[in-house]
Amino acid sequence: MSIGENIKNIRAALPPQVALIAVSKKVDAPRIREAIAAGQTVFGENYVQEAAGKWPTLRADNPAIRVHLIGHLQSNKAEDAVKIFDRIDTVDSEKLVLALTRAMEKTGRHIPVLLEVNIGREEQKAGVMPEHAAALLGIARKAGLDVQGLMCIPPADKDPAPYFIALRAMVDELKLSVCSMGMSADYELAAKHGATEVRVGTALFGARG
Ligand SMILES: *Cc1c(COP(=O)(O)O)cnc(C)c1O
Repeated sequence: MSIGENIKNIRAALPPQVALIAVSKKVDAPRIREAIAAGQTVFGENYVQEAAGKWPTLRADNPAIRVHLIGHLQSNKAEDAVKIFDRIDTVDSEKLVLALTRAMEKTGRHIPVLLEVNIGREEQKAGVMPEHAAALLGIARKAGLDVQGLMCIPPADKDPAPYFIALRAMVDELKLSVCSMGMSADYELAAKHGATEVRVGTALFGARG
């Protein structure tokens, strides 16, 4: 199936109000162009350097395109990230909040963010622990960041439903608007549990090379 057909099928499986983020990490420019030609405008990338290499050209004559950083961000790359991306979805520490605030002041580019929540409380995973999310939200807002919502990646080896339910409850409790959850294997389930956007890579572009 073509990328255009994949997008059509994924869209058809989602309620209209749920945004589809095309995850284009490790996807080359010709395949990304196919997605753009099929009408896809919002993309997710995991690595600052890779995105800096690909996107300036890809988006050059298309002002509708938005690229979100969905991979972990190191504080020392905050300035590069603020220059390239339209939203940072992986804010998970006070250190990163401060680095992003400084980077936005310095560059004059004020972009919104999401907080990444370690919803399964996994030791090796990035994300703020659920019980510290409200405090980090307060810190981020006080620093002047526009926090639009939360994102999570549930544990790989478990039924994601309880984690989706938990993240949606946090979004509501904190009175946020964006709930970013669900990937190729479970985007329909995530939408059912209140995702406002899903991040789909493999099911849209095919296996990553
Ligand atoms: C790679 C990635 C995705 C997409 O994963 P697929 O299973 O290929 O759909 C979504 N979210 C994040 C944070 C990712 O790193």
